Amino acid sequence: MNAKFAEIGQALRDHKRFAVLSHVRPDGDALGSQIALALSLKKLGKDVLVWNEDGMLDKYSFLPRAAVLTKPPTAPEDVDVAIALDTAIQNRLGTALPAVRSAKVWINIDHHPSNPAYGDLVYVDPTSPATGQILFELIASEKLPLDLEIAENLYVAISTDTGSFQYPNTTARTFEIAAELVRTGVDVGRVSQQLYENFPRRRVELLRELLGTMRFEGNGRVASFSLTLKMAKDLGVLPEDNEGLIDHLRAIRGVIVAVFFEELADGKVRVSMRSKTADVDVCAICEKFGGGGHTLAAGARVRGTLAEVEKRVLEAICDVVACDS
Ligand code: 5GP
Ligand code: MN
Repeated sequence: MNAKFAEIGQALRDHKRFAVLSHVRPDGDALGSQIALALSLKKLGKDVLVWNEDGMLDKYSFLPRAAVLTKPPTAPEDVDVAIALDTAIQNRLGTALPAVRSAKVWINIDHHPSNPAYGDLVYVDPTSPATGQILFELIASEKLPLDLEIAENLYVAISTDTGSFQYPNTTARTFEIAAELVRTGVDVGRVSQQLYENFPRRRVELLRELLGTMRFEGNGRVASFSLTLKMAKDLGVLPEDNEGLIDHLRAIRGVIVAVFFEELADGKVRVSMRSKTADVDVCAICEKFGGGGHTLAAGARVRGTLAEVEKRVLEAICDVVACDS
């Protein structure tokens, strides 16, 4: 059962010291949501710590007030309330989790269907395309502070998690909220350029290498590519360079499932999966490998060599999309 916005709003007004957190390897929804809520709380006069295991990523450092977000301290700090945003399981808070051990109240705001509703005040809406969209609703309904800096962070959260307002989870309400954020002053052209036309050359060189490994299964219904540790090292790739590259596979006509395999240093492989149709639930496939996510976008970290994991995962996908037919 979700808490009411009024209950969450009350908890935000009643307490003084907050830690606003999100998942490891953050995306635009995670970082934009963290900063937006933190700025709104600061405007309410609260003490706010904004922590992410990975700190601020270079590619999102254009976000207004990006510097409020830091890596968590190694020793725990006293906070009244810990707020987890966009984080399906508490463990994905990484090193931010031990830093807030003292929190008396946990608030969990998310849109992942697999979220088990951890925490004292929970608001999980799997129909919402972005955690940033839920935060807008919370801010609007509770009349919490909203200014241009907050609006721009929310806009980035929503734009990135909807694939720039393209994915099927984008609703009429999403556009109404975007319109409201633009009315607040968000410069759509400037923000979009920062998000989508400002990649380091390194990322495109990575794409070139990945496309060299591209292969297809099941009469072109499954497309995948792989990144080895050696390729990543040779190119000087950062983890954040990966975000969105899989969309090049999904964009191919006839492809239903796209997969990105990334060899990790800890003997595991990061698997990132996208589906074009709700009939093929990639979250269910990833759950078989200990992962999770959404119906159309999911992931897992799988123990094994790159070749082993590629084989097992592609077989599991082929079971679902009937590659042989
Ligand atoms: P991405 O492929 O962009 O890394 O992740 C897509 C979606 O899958 C995200 O919503 C993310 O929460 C989820 N996801 C990615 N990796 C994992 C994982 O290792 N475990 C779980 N439970 N979910 C993941
Ligand atoms: Mn999200």
